[in-house]
Amino acid sequence: MGDNPPVNAAPARETPSGPDALRTTGRFPLALSQLGRVHRTIMSRPDIFNSVFNDLRAEPRQITNSPNSPRDPPEENGMSVSIDMGRADEDAAGADGPTRLNPETIALMAMMQRYLPFVLILLAKLLIDHGIGILVGLALLLTFSHANSRLKREIGLQARSSMSGLVFLIIHILFCILLFYLVFADESLYSGLWLAPTFLPTLQNSFPNLLWVVLVTDSVLKLITVECKAIVAVLPATTLPYAKRGKVFLAIEATSQLYRAILPVQPWLYYLVNSYEGAYRVLGFTLASVYFLCKFWELLARFKMWHLSCSQLFKHSPLGEAPTEQQLAAAGNMCTICHDEFSDPVALQVCGHVFCESCLTTWCDREQSCPLCRAKVGTDPAWRDGSTSFFLQLF
Ligand SMILES: [Zn+2]
Ligand SMILES: [Zn+2]
Repeated sequence: MGDNPPVNAAPARETPSGPDALRTTGRFPLALSQLGRVHRTIMSRPDIFNSVFNDLRAEPRQITNSPNSPRDPPEENGMSVSIDMGRADEDAAGADGPTRLNPETIALMAMMQRYLPFVLILLAKLLIDHGIGILVGLALLLTFSHANSRLKREIGLQARSSMSGLVFLIIHILFCILLFYLVFADESLYSGLWLAPTFLPTLQNSFPNLLWVVLVTDSVLKLITVECKAIVAVLPATTLPYAKRGKVFLAIEATSQLYRAILPVQPWLYYLVNSYEGAYRVLGFTLASVYFLCKFWELLARFKMWHLSCSQLFKHSPLGEAPTEQQLAAAGNMCTICHDEFSDPVALQVCGHVFCESCLTTWCDREQSCPLCRAKVGTDPAWRDGSTSFFLQLF
């Protein structure tokens, strides 16, 4: 509403301006219903909406600032308000024309469009301030991802795996870890690997530092986990049969996950407790207690998994029983996994299909079902195939 009333306005419309005036004269509900009707019309006819908006874009002053214009009856005033409010919505909808979008989706898209430049500015600042850290973190993640998939593939090949490829992988991981700690030698990050970190004072009041040490320590520990599994994979089959390796990989993974869950406790507690001075330290201790309580349940779950994997390591858990003569004859005296004569044949209890024991154990390190009929057998095969968890232990 302008400060000066329109010169040529009709006497009937010479009422005090502003919403209060509308409410006292009883015209406020009328104006609202008109606004609602116009809005409904626009939403149901996007073509009208576009053409009116194009007019507005061409002559914005003429419509909003000239009450004497013949194109400016009271109804159109209401429409111009509605269009101004929906201007961002129209921008977000773009030139899609009659394609109708949910108004809430349009509003959300418009909001995201407005926030985007500021998010990009923040990202650019983050890159400039912590560029080296981010690059090193990405390099560690890529190295881990490549080593993990490579090792899993080689382990799956068993006797046909490439020995030179595995040895190269071991040297490559070792080289990456040593190079990382050499480059950041002055930060003594390596001390975070064995619960005696000397970098704790640098974490006081510095959340980026906390994230940095926790993230890189976790990434290096994952690389060490892959390294241990690769060393197991290069062992000759006479030292450690392939059928028993699934249990060893599971035990290594469970130990790694438990250890990786324990390591961030110390930096986090130090950060939470020492970020406050004087009486506010009570706050720090409260936060640290809540953190420890939440952490306790995670540690308990990891410990249970570790305990189970270690107890299975030395236990012989038969997947089936010795087959009868009829079962062997029905199978044609040939294992359908290795396409060779049976060696130590076992018959699955659930379906009676017969396989070599080593073939079946290796199969059950990846699958939870009979290779022939898909009947459910064995225990959860997670981590028995030599893969390592991608989970980033941030807390
Ligand atoms: Zn076989
Ligand atoms: Zn079967």
